[in-house]
Amino acid sequence: MDNGSKRHVFIETFGCQMNENDTGRMLSFLKGNDYSPTDVPSEADLILVNTCSIRDKAEQKVYSALGRFKRLKDKNPALLIGVTGCVAQQKGSVLLEKAPYLDMVIGTHNIHNIPSVIKEVSGKKKRVSLTEFYEEIKAGEYSSAAKGGIKAYVNIMRGCDNFCTYCIVPYTRGGEVSRPAGDIIDEIKTLAGGGTKEVTLLGQNVNSYKGEVSFPELLRRAAGIGGVERVRFVTSHPKDISKELIYLYGEEPKICRSIHLPLQSGSDMVLERMKRGYTARGYLSKLELLKNLYPEISVTTDIIVGFPGEGGEDFKETMRCVREVEFDGIFSFKYSPRPMTAAAAFPDVVPPGIKQERLEELQALQKEITLEKNKALVGKTVKVLIEGQTKRNPVEVTGRTSCNRVVNLPSPRALAGCIADVFVVDA
Ligand code: SF4
Repeated sequence: MDNGSKRHVFIETFGCQMNENDTGRMLSFLKGNDYSPTDVPSEADLILVNTCSIRDKAEQKVYSALGRFKRLKDKNPALLIGVTGCVAQQKGSVLLEKAPYLDMVIGTHNIHNIPSVIKEVSGKKKRVSLTEFYEEIKAGEYSSAAKGGIKAYVNIMRGCDNFCTYCIVPYTRGGEVSRPAGDIIDEIKTLAGGGTKEVTLLGQNVNSYKGEVSFPELLRRAAGIGGVERVRFVTSHPKDISKELIYLYGEEPKICRSIHLPLQSGSDMVLERMKRGYTARGYLSKLELLKNLYPEISVTTDIIVGFPGEGGEDFKETMRCVREVEFDGIFSFKYSPRPMTAAAAFPDVVPPGIKQERLEELQALQKEITLEKNKALVGKTVKVLIEGQTKRNPVEVTGRTSCNRVVNLPSPRALAGCIADVFVVDA
């Protein structure tokens, strides 16, 4: 990874695609400051922990990572350590008080300020916490994300106004602000010029994008850029999916045949307590339309088990929905209360053992469904965008179908960036 510059940065990333993309933005801003990335923490001059606070477990992992990096600083006092991301935003200077070895805390709206913070920290030997929220997206705040690669994420908005009762995101990422469409298109053009074939438009709730054009029009424009072969988007909120978006799949072949649509629960009572803004039936009818029009579309979802008040019948309704939809994949979690959120004060807490049982039951069902769906592809030819070698085998390459399924193939000749016709032999 060394490109000859003198200083190295190691970034440990926790959490969602938003954080992964923020890590890319940090590297891009730091490159301008002569930092090159390293995969080896002990070689780093700067270590950043890009944090997630969506669940209690994710937050605990951050503290244990910091403990590990403190030991490196004990050996090398010149090492700079910083915390970025949602825990940084949530805790701010409290982190500096708790961890005297920390040099900087940089919140979610201040990623573009990393170079100036580093200057302040290293020059004046100050410790800095920067967690201001900004209403506007600043010029240049996102353009540095143009970092290249076969696939790239492109932020189209930040924050969220929904305040689902379990979710900390509106507090750690702020209110919803859309990025101007022109900036987004310019970034995608830069990426495509550098060889990117697939872009994923990224936001907490992309369907409520409010730039100069509608979200479906933004997708259309992205798909129209020369060199772009595939366009995806994440995350969609079921209440905001429009018919225009649903019909766009049929008009624009570059829009990938996949959608991530978080259900969270199959029980209307639980959905209402989560303040999700839809019923299970409403969710299912939108999916029905999508699946009737595009039977090959793959649908993934998020499900939380053990939300306060979730009884055995409520959980059964979730299982019924999972059986009915036959999701291609599920990201499933046990509910954990987050500070500042409304649900943290809800009574009727579900005991940990029951949460665990429900999680295991759900995951076992989904495992069966996913395997069946993958087996259905055996004997078929699918189009795979090749991403590069797999880690486990140097003569094996990996890529994804339009439906977002991972396909590995023993073909060193398949070039990264090409779309190959692949005959599926095993699932
Ligand atoms: S839509 Fe709900 S779950 Fe998603 S980020 Fe906003 S508040 Fe959180």
